[in-house]
Formats: sequence, structure tokens, C-alpha cells
Amino acid sequence: MLRKLWLALLFTVIAFPLWAMSVRAADVTDVNWVTRNDAPIPFVRVVLSLTAPVDASASIDKAGTTTTVQLKNVKLKTDDTSLTMDPKIVTKAQLKQSSKNVNVVLNTPNSIDVGDIKVFSLKKDKVNNKPDRMVIDIQQKGVAPRSVYYGSTPKVTKPTATSTVNTDKKSNKKSSTTNTSTQPAKPPTVVATASQPKAVTVDYKTSGGIAGKVITIDPGHGGSDPGAIGPTGLMEKNVTLPISMKLKKALEAKGAKVNLTRTTDVDVYGPNASGPDELQARVDVGTANKSDIFISVHINSFSNPSVGGISTYYYDKTQYDTRLASRIQAKIADEAGFSGDRGIQPGNLYVLRRSLMPAVLVELGFISNPKEEALLKSDAVQQEFADEIADGIENYFRG
Ligand SMILES: [Zn+2]
Repeated sequence: MLRKLWLALLFTVIAFPLWAMSVRAADVTDVNWVTRNDAPIPFVRVVLSLTAPVDASASIDKAGTTTTVQLKNVKLKTDDTSLTMDPKIVTKAQLKQSSKNVNVVLNTPNSIDVGDIKVFSLKKDKVNNKPDRMVIDIQQKGVAPRSVYYGSTPKVTKPTATSTVNTDKKSNKKSSTTNTSTQPAKPPTVVATASQPKAVTVDYKTSGGIAGKVITIDPGHGGSDPGAIGPTGLMEKNVTLPISMKLKKALEAKGAKVNLTRTTDVDVYGPNASGPDELQARVDVGTANKSDIFISVHINSFSNPSVGGISTYYYDKTQYDTRLASRIQAKIADEAGFSGDRGIQPGNLYVLRRSLMPAVLVELGFISNPKEEALLKSDAVQQEFADEIADGIENYFRG
């Protein structure tokens, strides 16, 4: 389905071929990009729409600040040839016709190497009306993957945030980014957002047992967005959905009322939505259903395949987010075969920040870790995670 390549960091390679796939000529018809903050290391994803599959190669200059991805035998058929991006990760991208090829030249503020970039193709998707695509992911340099360990005293720096939705139509058509700046954490239930001009509140309950409580489950990614991809090609979106469906059943068995943001392999907002639109659509499901909690299900990924383990992210916007994260993490952390407990971690993630009720985002192992990827394919393991999360939620509602 998806052809992807981890660019192994063997030497400081200056040029490296990616793959040979097709010799058909194709056009580049569109380019979209987004900053993704829902991974241990934030990254910029650039998606080029194509009329047919193409070959590509990538090279990084000696300084490490200019990366060129060359699409072979391709014509440039979009006017979006100069994109201003994220100053922390990729400052800009330019598309240039160079004889029969198109070069995508990406400038990074810091020196990167092949371990920081992934290039992969996505096939035409008739169901979701998507063309062939080439995807370039470049991760932020100089930031450590977030890791705070649960058990001792979790180090909680009060998250402070606002969201910057980039709507500069001129230079950044269809592009967007969420980011952090300084603003005090808001009190519970009073969060108005750009997409919600009215101050909407949800009168969530935090105790009294799980029976009758309303829970929104958000299966991470879906549709045009595969999420992270494992070494054998397992897509995060195809793991988060079955775990979420199983979790729904487990919670219903305990008497909860459960909504999912998606129940099939689709975008929640719609194909090609910007990151914030897509994520706000998920948050809106929780709001519309007057949920008591919101839980987003994800699988982690990292460039080093030996990294593994289980973590739960929260955003400390109410006095209950941390408790919810702790109760769930306590149940899932020691899942057999996984690399252990990575703890609860504060995360300035869109769905956590914008949810109007206590919310968590679980990262159930690393899809980039071959051992954990294999386990994540197992129906039994998926069921165990679902049951453990449900038990954690049940504990949370005990107060
Ligand atoms: Zn994810």
C-alpha cells in the first residue's frame, strides 16, 4: 500500500537514492504542508500531489541546511512554488523545474542529516479521492524526544499555550501550524477557540463511577493521514482504529456512553484538511456529545528503532487531566513485550489543549520499533490495551 523508506544513518551521506518505482511521466499538481506536534519530536510534513507515481532521490548539502528532494521525470503544474513554513523546522520550500525533474528545495534553520528526513510515496486512493502523493517529513533539530517518567514525581511545567492558526492565504495557501506561546493555563470549562466564536462550555463529571459517563474516543489519524508507519508498513491509523473500537465495547460493558470521532478509515474533517481543521473536528465531537472525558489513541514513532515504551500525554488545563493520565498510564504501562513505562507527560497537543473536558492522548508503544510493531498487529494485544485503558478510566471516575 505504502512504500516508505527509513533513511538509515550509516555515514554522513551526501546523496542517497530512495527507490526506483516507475518511469511514467507525471505532473506535480499541488503542494500542502503542516507542522505536526503529535510525535515525540515535532516535524514538518510536505505533501506533493501527483498525477502518477514517480521516482525520487534526496540530497543534503554539506552545511546540512539545504535539502533537495528530486522528483524524476515530472512537470511542475502548480503556482505554489514558494512556501514559507515553520521557522523552527523548515523555514521555506521552493519547487523548481530542472530540465525533466522537479526539485523541492527545503531550507532548515539547523543542520540536519539523513536521520531527520523521511521521504515516502502514498498511492492513489480512490475511496478518499486522493491522488498519488510524495511525502517529505523533516523533524525539528535540537529537541529531545519528550520523556518524563511516571512513578516518581512527574515533572510538570505548567503548560502555557495559545494556538496560532496560520491563515495567511498569500504565502501559505492551505498551510497551517499550531504552536506555543505564553498565556496562563485556563480554568476548566471556559475555553473559547477561533473555530468556536461563542464561549462553549461542557459541564463534565469527574466522579461517581463510570456508569452513565460520556466518553469520546479519538482514533488517531485516518483517511489521508496514515500517521506513523512501521518497518513492515503497518500504519498507525490502522492500529488506532481497532483498539478504539475495542475500547468502546469495553467501556460500554462498564456502563459508559461512548462516541468515536471516526469509525472507519476516514479524515474526520475531510480530505486534505489543514492540521488544525482536522484536529478541531475531533475536539468538536467531544464537545457536541457533552463528553466527560476525551481520549485520543495513538502509536508513537521515532527515528531510532530501538526506542520503545508506553506513555500518556496530558495538558494541565483542568485539575483532572493529570489524574486521568495517571490512572490510564498505571494500567497500560506494563503491557507485556513492550519496552516499559515512559510515564505521563505534559504535552501541548491540539486535541488536549482544545478539548473542553479532561483529555489524554495515549501513545501505545512505538510503531517504529520492530518488536512493538509486531505486537501491535495482534488482536489479543489490541484487546489488552483496550481493557487496560477502560480499567484506568473506571478508576478515574471513582474520584
Ligand atoms: Zn499519532
